[in-house]
Amino acid sequence: MKKHLTVGILAAPVVALAGLYGDTPDAKHAWAVHDWNRPKPAKVEVDAKGIPSDAVVLFDGTKESFERNWQSDKGGAPTWKCEDGMFSSKAGWGLGSIRTKAEFGDCQLHIEYMHPADTKSLGGPQMRGNSGVFLMGREYGYEVQVLESYYTSREMEGKDGYVDNYTDGQAGSVYAENPPMVNPQRKPGEWQVYDIVFHQPVWDGDRLLHPGSITVFFNGVLVQDHWEMEGQTTHCRRRPLKPHPKKGPLLLQDHGCPVNFRNIWIREIPSRWDNKTHSAMSADPEAVMALRRETAAKLFAKIADPKACDAGTVAALGEVVSYDADEKYRQAFLDALAAYKERKGGDREVKDLNGKLEVLVRNGVFGADILVK
Ligand code: MG
Repeated sequence: MKKHLTVGILAAPVVALAGLYGDTPDAKHAWAVHDWNRPKPAKVEVDAKGIPSDAVVLFDGTKESFERNWQSDKGGAPTWKCEDGMFSSKAGWGLGSIRTKAEFGDCQLHIEYMHPADTKSLGGPQMRGNSGVFLMGREYGYEVQVLESYYTSREMEGKDGYVDNYTDGQAGSVYAENPPMVNPQRKPGEWQVYDIVFHQPVWDGDRLLHPGSITVFFNGVLVQDHWEMEGQTTHCRRRPLKPHPKKGPLLLQDHGCPVNFRNIWIREIPSRWDNKTHSAMSADPEAVMALRRETAAKLFAKIADPKACDAGTVAALGEVVSYDADEKYRQAFLDALAAYKERKGGDREVKDLNGKLEVLVRNGVFGADILVK
């Protein structure tokens, strides 16, 4: 296995020996640092509208996509008006909330909303264009508040249009829990953008292992920084987190207020806690070791003659042992190395090989006596 390395401004490719480049795998890391064997991420294209190719488009401005993706929270066709490339709730209770037909778990969500420019029509603090983005639906949901909050900022106090409001209920808050860090809302009549990253809590039966989190960019500005939810969204009271299904709908709240929505897409993202070989708190040493063994076996199978005494074979066997120091691999490595030391190559080759062997030495796989003198 030949690698082409480029280092800094030395752009000329150098044919390098296999593997053994960065620190070796360990109990938390299935891969070495700078590991070429590590799987590559899937390619995603982003279109001219900024929508990733792996996103589910929940509303593209057409009536067809509105009716295909949304329904009334009570069942049946969605009740909100859809025209002019947006759909809308209205003043006065009665339409009811709407939800997606599909259900989602951890996700990245993009959603845009706009309040009518005429703020006089909007009402008092919590009736000023109140809606909400409920992740996981209404019963178990976590709400990122939608509200007209441009005129609630302290900078507006005393000025025309100013209204006071409770802070943990303004736009960009995790409702009743955490206000946004700053208020980047634009004036009513302009489109507002939420980009939300949501991780649900992780349970072992009724035992909470990890609280979920909500991160919100509001018009591109970070306002919720990995906020760990304290409970399902409620009003006036606190209620603790409770287990719920791993998938739920995206719900938009009807609060009897006029709010327009457009350009909504969602990407489900893998739960970090389901990834047992992730190099993080979630890494399960047994799962990590299983993947290391699998990788070692694949790399060993690629070596045409493990008994060959050339530098490439020694380096390749060293990489195998860095994943799995199984006795048969260790012995094959030591045998090939001993044979290489008898018939070692030129100074440059020895220097290159020792550079690799030093990775094994500094990571404690072997002692310094493996280096070629
Ligand atoms: Mg709300």
